[in-house]
Amino acid sequence: MTEGSLADRLATVQGAIADAAREAGRDTSDLTTIVVTKFHPVELVRELAALGVRDLGENRHQEASAKAAEVGDLDLVWHFVGQLQSKKARQARAYARVFHSLDRESVIDALSSPDEVVDGFVQLNLTDDPGRGGVQPHDLQQVAERVIATEGIRLLGVMAVAPLGEEPRRAFERVRHASESLTAIDPSARYISAGMSGDFREAILEGATHLRIGSAITGNRQGPG
Ligand SMILES: *Cc1c(COP(=O)(O)O)cnc(C)c1O
Repeated sequence: MTEGSLADRLATVQGAIADAAREAGRDTSDLTTIVVTKFHPVELVRELAALGVRDLGENRHQEASAKAAEVGDLDLVWHFVGQLQSKKARQARAYARVFHSLDRESVIDALSSPDEVVDGFVQLNLTDDPGRGGVQPHDLQQVAERVIATEGIRLLGVMAVAPLGEEPRRAFERVRHASESLTAIDPSARYISAGMSGDFREAILEGATHLRIGSAITGNRQGPG
């Protein structure tokens, strides 16, 4: 899917998203596609914006803040999708409107603000490796309650990355169950951030509302990650 022009790849992915939504019996208006531009130059952000993309994702604070500043003239929504250190969280708030990887009280507390409200997802760790980002499913409720109690963050729902070595549909089914347990506490936190270039169809079939898609649209990245 990295053949052809940026416009072609975007259209191909949008078509595949529409197909998966139809297969799931869902409306595409319920889906937000975030194009992850990490490791790509800021010119790509301008090209995407010209093609109608409004939601952009980055996973490193320095890169994200530099890019967001360079395209400050465009009306974009920046999503922070990576691990965030609490000392960077407050700075990231200056450009990011949605935080997808909330998993620690220190980061949640650092995002607290009496001013503008940002949106947040609690990240689930679908592996047994505590070194991966995210909370274990049994800690979801506690961390979600911390977000709900924090001024300046609106809890949207859960986020996850499908682990390597597990069938993505099975992993996203677990995410859907976690989401259902969360909406029992907070019905408004019904959104699910899941699905990347290789597995967005499976994520849509399991209820994902926010797709984070990089390489299938942007082409291969220049660096690691
Ligand atoms: C890079 C990244 C993506 C996009 O990955 P692709 O496989 O390039 O689509 C999505 N989510 C997170 C958290 C990422 O770091």
